[in-house]
Amino acid sequence: MANRPEPQNGNLGIQQVVISIVLLVLVFGMLVVPMIQDRTATQTVPYSTFKSRIEEGAIREVTLADRMISGPLNSAEGDVTGLSAVLPAQNDPGLLPLLEEMDVPVTAVNSGDGSIISMLLPWVFLLGFYIWLMRRFRSGQAGLPSGMENLMSGRFLKPAKQPRKITFDDVAGQDTAKREVFELVEFLRDPERFARVGAEVPHGVLLMGPPGTGKTLLARALAGEADVPFFSTTGSEFIEVFVGVGAGRVRKMFEAARAAAPAIIFIDELDSIGRTRGTGLGGGHDEREQTLNQILAELDGFSGKEAVVVLAATNRPDVLDPALLRPGRFDRHVTLNLPDKAARRAILDIHAKDLPLSKEVDLDEVAAGTPGFSGADLKNLLNEAAITAARTSAREIRPSDIDEARDKVMMGTVRTLAIQPEERHRLAVHEAGHTAVAHFLPDADPLYKVTIIPRGQALGGTHMLPENERHTLPEPYLRAQLTTLLGGRAAEQVVMGSLSSGADDDIKRATALARSMVARWGMDDTLGPMDLRESDDHPFLGQSIARPRNFSDATAGQVDAAVQSLLKASEAQAIDILTEHKTRVQALAAALIAQETLDADAIRSCLDNGNVTHLPERTKPT
Ligand code: ADP
Ligand code: MG
Ligand code: ZN
Repeated sequence: MANRPEPQNGNLGIQQVVISIVLLVLVFGMLVVPMIQDRTATQTVPYSTFKSRIEEGAIREVTLADRMISGPLNSAEGDVTGLSAVLPAQNDPGLLPLLEEMDVPVTAVNSGDGSIISMLLPWVFLLGFYIWLMRRFRSGQAGLPSGMENLMSGRFLKPAKQPRKITFDDVAGQDTAKREVFELVEFLRDPERFARVGAEVPHGVLLMGPPGTGKTLLARALAGEADVPFFSTTGSEFIEVFVGVGAGRVRKMFEAARAAAPAIIFIDELDSIGRTRGTGLGGGHDEREQTLNQILAELDGFSGKEAVVVLAATNRPDVLDPALLRPGRFDRHVTLNLPDKAARRAILDIHAKDLPLSKEVDLDEVAAGTPGFSGADLKNLLNEAAITAARTSAREIRPSDIDEARDKVMMGTVRTLAIQPEERHRLAVHEAGHTAVAHFLPDADPLYKVTIIPRGQALGGTHMLPENERHTLPEPYLRAQLTTLLGGRAAEQVVMGSLSSGADDDIKRATALARSMVARWGMDDTLGPMDLRESDDHPFLGQSIARPRNFSDATAGQVDAAVQSLLKASEAQAIDILTEHKTRVQALAAALIAQETLDADAIRSCLDNGNVTHLPERTKPT
């Protein structure tokens, strides 16, 4: 579900590698090539040898440097065209007279400071170039230099280039969000029309929704549709080591957008800078606060008629500084939701367009089988299916590949665990318990499949599929869920006569559900419809944040008691069901041990008629 990197930064890694290689080659050249040349051309010999070669007349001119003497040979001896030697520290008084006597011209060079600098200069350049490159990368700019104005903050001064034009057609579902964003396009295309009737168009629009629902995608589609300059950046890019740099960039970006108006500024992942100030959340960072203050100041600085729209996206609206959401700032909120079945189908269509799907794949079925998947999950599902198909060298993506991918995305990768036969038996009984309870309760969701193959964190799983998207949860449905959750543990009790730690997660989820029923939805008669929750749910995170309790300890005790009795009643119901159908539950467990995974039809034939005769011989447990 992670956010994809922005396209501008997509090939950053490769570029870095290429440039490092270029630098390495340069260094190699500077160090090694001169050494090799030296070796082949000039040979270093002992001083006495050098001197005797002068006496022989083999050397007709010399160069005297600080501690070296060198000179070309009259005639090359193999590869050697010159000789050099280290001068003795005790000056040889005979050297100069000898040179004069042999009539050898002497060139003296000063190997002092000047030449050290000239030796170091290329290195200084190289180091400087490297540091400059690294800073460019860190500031999120990929690509090669294209002029001075591109240095450091250049990226914000030029509208981002889209690799391929993305339009609203690439965004499936999300009709409300699309409509709201489209209004902005109309405004930007013809600001005059709105100005004539005195309409002020919102300057700050906040896209919010769970990860992977297409916020970034929608913003890019807007860029493609609007045909106006689009300045795009990510919140985290503003977080700099040096205080004040982020704020300066914000100022420059807004300046540039104003100059280019009508224009759009898009700040992705606003929460990384826009967190509540002074809470220490995210590291109570001076730099972040200054950047945030600058954004607030820029938003306040817009006059009503300026045709610049600031779009921001976040999946954590709860942590945003309230000052950001005040009127005149990000006051227009556009929510993106997880797609419903029809939208999932539409998203699958978009991403399956270029995939070789076999004719047997029914995307309607896939959409029905993926409740709770985001757009990004669905894209990932198709990709995993393609990988599975490729692994078996198939030419098409078959329904089984999609099934496997779905299980993988939903529950994690298959784990190989050494499970002892005894434990395996208990596992099968436990899952058979969940399955049987769900099967015999009319209010539970239809079963999809049951398995004792360990995946991700779970050792097995009973999977059900809601027939339709539910927006509210009726009480009988919730009670059926509670009983189903406790069915695994109840089956261990009924069939094996003992409990195990295998119901850990079931109990956790059942307790949380029962607590919501009592404390949020008023489903306990004595307590009635009173808000008794002790934490606030975060709709996009599936997490909750504690809040101060504003009811008495006595009431809290009552809540606990009500939750407990709800759980106990559900447990009792599960035990009743499983005791009544004990032999069929045992048959289902046996079938699970033999086959590991049973689909809806196999489950039905087992539980409705106790029919297990069609099963193959018990296979070897793996
Ligand atoms: P967010 O920014 O909300 O976390 P993204 O826009 O980054 O989500 O979505 C990630 C990817 O998932 C997109 O690039 C796109 O391929 C796919 N995706 C998400 N939502 C949709 C959608 N509604 N229609 C089509 N593709 C989608
Ligand atoms: Mg995003
Ligand atoms: Zn369980």
